[in-house]
Amino acid sequence: MNNKRRIINIISNRNFESRKTSMELKEKLIKRGFIVRERFDKRAELNICVGGDGSFLRAVHRNKFPTIPFVGINTGHLGFFQEILPENMDEFINKYINKEYIVEELFLVSAEVCTKDKCYYLTGINEIVVKGSKSKVIHIDVSIDGNHLEHFCGDGMIISTPSGSTAYNFSVGGSIIYPTLNTLQLAPLAPISSKAYRSLLNSIVVPGDCVISLKLENRYSNSTLIVNDGVELRYDNIDHINFKISDKKIYRLVLDKNMYWNNLRSKFL
Ligand code: NAP
Repeated sequence: MNNKRRIINIISNRNFESRKTSMELKEKLIKRGFIVRERFDKRAELNICVGGDGSFLRAVHRNKFPTIPFVGINTGHLGFFQEILPENMDEFINKYINKEYIVEELFLVSAEVCTKDKCYYLTGINEIVVKGSKSKVIHIDVSIDGNHLEHFCGDGMIISTPSGSTAYNFSVGGSIIYPTLNTLQLAPLAPISSKAYRSLLNSIVVPGDCVISLKLENRYSNSTLIVNDGVELRYDNIDHINFKISDKKIYRLVLDKNMYWNNLRSKFL
């Protein structure tokens, strides 16, 4: 096989272990005939992300949701997205060269944040969170495809993708959703359910073609925070936010179909 013109991007975080792993990986790939770039090259056929899940999230955002597949080498803490361990690097390279993998599509969440003046568009890999910025209860009217569902009161709402279902969503009691399912999940953050207020206590999983709309009460329009994959964003005078599955997708190399279940067991149980 002639690998001469095959380019691979290695995107690494800056910690010592990741840099050491990246150096080793680079040498091994060059020996097998690949061209290795340590900055994102859009002609590459593969992105190898070295670090934890946080590094993967940042790599995808920074490079604007490329369609070049990602695979991760885990030098981070949890590494749910990061399938390969540094000690299995040689096995990974062999499997990659022999095409012993599948490419999975990952669904993303998109948000249209409409203020009194204009709308802003966001894309999230794990989730987009709407919460009060001043430790106050926020009140939100929740509709799905134009059908009013509830008047929510509590800390906020998490709208997560299937691959984000094991992140923040999981910590607030949301369900785990297999990453290739075309759905979004709406999970409440500390919902109030009392004689004064009635909010759903559990998360809802909605089909991918639904639009989830959150309409903020006027008094919260300047005290609401949007958090996209851990990054805080502030907008003045938010009126409503619509969420749907994004038209964009990212792709992930999967070397072992059983990996997801092994990962769940080993990382959460
Ligand atoms: P971070 O420190 O980068 O990540 C927090 C933890 O979440 C890390 O252990 C990270 O794994 C893990 N993680 C990220 N994506 C995951 C996924 N899809 N499945 C399972 N675990 C995942 O925190 P950050 O910069 O604030 O935000 C990044 C993400 O952290 C957010 O998108 C959010 O989902 C999550 N988060 C969770 C909580 C919570 O559980 N209470 C609160 C805030 C944010 P690594 O150790 O491998 O990086």
